[in-house]
Amino acid sequence: MRRPVIIIGGGISGLSTAYFLAKAGIPSTLVEARPRLGGVIWTERVEGCTLEMGPDSYLAQKPWALELIRELGLESEVIASNDHLRKTYVLKHGRLVPLPDGLMFMVPTRILPLVSTRLLGWPTKFRMALEWFHPPQGHMGEDRSVAAFVEQHYGREAVDYLTEPLLSGVYGGDPSRLSILSVLPRFAELEARYGSLTKGVLHSRRRAAAEARSTPLFQTLRGGLQQLSDALAERLRDAVEVIRARAEAVEPGWRVRVNGEWLEAEHVVLACEAHNAGALLGWEDLASVPYSSSLIVSLGYARRGFDHPLNGFGFLVPRKERKRLVAATWVNVKFSHRAPEDKVLLRCFLGGEGQESILSESDESLLAGVQEELREIMGVTARPVFWRIARWPRSMAQYTVGHQALIREIEERVERHPGLHLAGNAYHGIGIPDCVRMGRQAAGRIAKARAA
Ligand SMILES: Cc1cc2nc3c(=O)[nH]c(=O)nc-3n(C[C@H](O)[C@H](O)[C@H](O)COP(=O)(O)OP(=O)(O)OC[C@H]3O[C@@H](n4cnc5c(N)ncnc54)[C@H](O)[C@@H]3O)c2cc1C
Repeated sequence: MRRPVIIIGGGISGLSTAYFLAKAGIPSTLVEARPRLGGVIWTERVEGCTLEMGPDSYLAQKPWALELIRELGLESEVIASNDHLRKTYVLKHGRLVPLPDGLMFMVPTRILPLVSTRLLGWPTKFRMALEWFHPPQGHMGEDRSVAAFVEQHYGREAVDYLTEPLLSGVYGGDPSRLSILSVLPRFAELEARYGSLTKGVLHSRRRAAAEARSTPLFQTLRGGLQQLSDALAERLRDAVEVIRARAEAVEPGWRVRVNGEWLEAEHVVLACEAHNAGALLGWEDLASVPYSSSLIVSLGYARRGFDHPLNGFGFLVPRKERKRLVAATWVNVKFSHRAPEDKVLLRCFLGGEGQESILSESDESLLAGVQEELREIMGVTARPVFWRIARWPRSMAQYTVGHQALIREIEERVERHPGLHLAGNAYHGIGIPDCVRMGRQAAGRIAKARAA
């Protein structure tokens, strides 16, 4: 029997596609290799704590995740980050130094905090002041690496101690490879228009300040983000046939081989990682979209005997500091409802580009390494009462220089293959809201094609 739609990949992109198809009255078949739906979204409950084994929140400014959450009736479960307690530290020469106030990502907008910070030396501070005179380009120009872009404006130290750690916590990526046009397009626009990023940010400050006052930075769900994927799976129970197996091949026509058997469909949505999508289609350029590998180590401690004040959201570790930890979140502070009063929950992020080998280390070795670094950096000597490790091989797409051109080329080829659709974190945004949006768009295109 020819199916209307087969979706490959049951992460948030595939689930969103299936949901919006179902809403349009179009049944689909979802093929997922893992036993669990949700992809990298995975929440565990341990000793009263809510552990996010993958993503822990989404950017509130991007509306698509919240819109879906509302449709699913989960709005009362939405909680915001405790932004009044937001302070992020960066490790410099072995000590935690707070990010200065007034930074818009790596762009300084206030003089006093910049002058007084110990995070940057005087040459960088002078350079940041002189950046005001950076001439406007008038156009966006060629794609460049984020590192080259920032170095041109603020110098190398700003790359090493601001941009690199800030980006590592999001992309697990290397700023000397990441694309300014794909990763920080707003700053490329500001450069084109104002020359100086500081000038550009200050010009748009009033609007941004109003937005910042009304919107928290991050949102999540009280019981963890898996509430979202679970709610989607539950909602789709009757409308979607789920096949728990790895899709082995895809052929134009369309047909998908699963467990050695060919399933036919009018439309195929590849909502899996680009390397898997590329392998299924035999498209080398698609398979070549780079991905970083990372892992999350969650550690729970008894509050009594835990001798750190947890006065902020956590810390970032620049590569220059040569640690295995990339970032650590002090979960109790960042979000309410994540840990009971008598527990402290730390979420540590490791890996990232060039650090893939860490994924093959044993749990014992990883745990020992993380504990040692938490002792050095935070002075934590207590032993955790529980810990969990989640490994994420090749899960986070890297938008490297030339990404937009590559994706444009791939999407033009997709257009020449009616019935084929791509959705997922490799294309137009790696965060959960963007994945929801891409799933919705794929469903919209299918509904339109079927109506024509
Ligand atoms: C550790 C980590 C932390 C993150 N933190 C955040 C965060 O805090 N906020 C945020 O917004 N974003 C975060 N992200 C990014 C975001 O979570 C992901 O980009 C997004 O969830 C990806 O969804 P997806 O459905 O596109 O892909 P995935 O969730 O990777 O799902 C793809 C699915 O396809 C399946 N699959 C692959 N090949 C096949 C095949 N041949 N047959 C069948 N199934 C197949 C896989 O098993 C997988 O389940 C994080 C990502 C990671 C890895």
